[in-house]
Amino acid sequence: MADIHTYDFAGKRALIRVDFNVPLDKETFEITDDTRIRAALPTIQHILKNGGSVVLMSHLGRPKDGPEDKFSLRHIVGHTAELLGVPVQFANDCIGEQADDMSAALKPGEVLMLENVRFHKRETAGTESFAEQLAKHGDVYVNDAFGTAHRAHASTTVVAKFFPNDKMFGYLLEGEIKAVDKVLNSDEKPLTAIVGGAKVSSKITIIERLLDKVDNLIVGGGMAYTFVKAMGGEVGNSLIEDDFVPMAQKIMNDAKAKGVNLYIPTDTIIADKFDNDANRQEVKIGEIPEGWMGLDTGSETSAACREIIASSKLILWNGPMGVFEMENFQQGTKDVANAIVEATEKGAFSLIGGGDSVAAINKFKLADKVSYVSTGGGAMLEYLEGIELPGIKAIRD
Ligand code: AMP
Repeated sequence: MADIHTYDFAGKRALIRVDFNVPLDKETFEITDDTRIRAALPTIQHILKNGGSVVLMSHLGRPKDGPEDKFSLRHIVGHTAELLGVPVQFANDCIGEQADDMSAALKPGEVLMLENVRFHKRETAGTESFAEQLAKHGDVYVNDAFGTAHRAHASTTVVAKFFPNDKMFGYLLEGEIKAVDKVLNSDEKPLTAIVGGAKVSSKITIIERLLDKVDNLIVGGGMAYTFVKAMGGEVGNSLIEDDFVPMAQKIMNDAKAKGVNLYIPTDTIIADKFDNDANRQEVKIGEIPEGWMGLDTGSETSAACREIIASSKLILWNGPMGVFEMENFQQGTKDVANAIVEATEKGAFSLIGGGDSVAAINKFKLADKVSYVSTGGGAMLEYLEGIELPGIKAIRD
């Protein structure tokens, strides 16, 4: 593989797989969160500055049957041009004569955006002939789409084989890989993982893998109650996965055997219904009355988490401590976020990775106070599970 830091882009057309799958307003098609576009700017700007031209390819949404205006990347062109400060041309299809002519005519410093690659079913099927058509647009392939690196699609993975010597990671993808590797493979200690979220079932593989790596593992969110039940506690109407009670028990045993300090919340904020305006009480976590459910962690838990996090050198956070989307049940998640910020200020490296904890850190406006916030939800989860992501492998092979 080549290296974006040293590669000579002069006179070359760089075909960049970006993740411009941004949320759009349903009526006006205005971009409601441009984080993903901003995240790709350093790669694009670097290539333009070094005398290259750029062809941007991405998907947007999940079109089912060919082109649909609401999933058109033309809605993104204007804002991308604004952010880049250069005009962005647009090809109405990602393959075919018009797109080929436009990419062939690109001069150094020019930018072309292709229409949604998922308007062709062969994209998600990973069809080689389709990838070959995409490959025609570039002399060099740059993958900067961490959010889709876990998909073996034509534009994320298969296309790389047409650039045996001229394929590389973009800055964003490289940064994501470095951040996870720093957390999972560095010798610094203690390493603390905070794993929350709704269900044990969706985090089980990550937890098992983390048990071999971490010094402290804090379990939070809905899945904590399955652990509490495994310990014989009363959990009322809390979210429970009965099938996973034995698994929770096994995790507790494994943690002990591996010398991992497994922290299960000790108190909780309970509610008499799943509603922000429900009646609330703070109780011991194993003493939840019938008809009540735990929707957040309590103050004793926050204090304990804060202490563990404060003594950590490396911190990985995945999944909220409670139903943080509701104002009245966000405190536990906010406390953990603030504890991570404080530890980071004192020199710890903190990685916030995977879906809802990223949403939480953004909601609390603390994203710039932690070391790294991942852009890839599903991709980050699979990476943490130890799966070699096809998009990453295709560049390295
Ligand atoms: P995940 O996508 O698995 O990380 O789960 C995130 C979701 O878990 C968020 O939407 C939270 O509202 C939800 N969640 C967190 N704590 C609880 C809880 N105690 N009961 C029900 N859902 C929860």
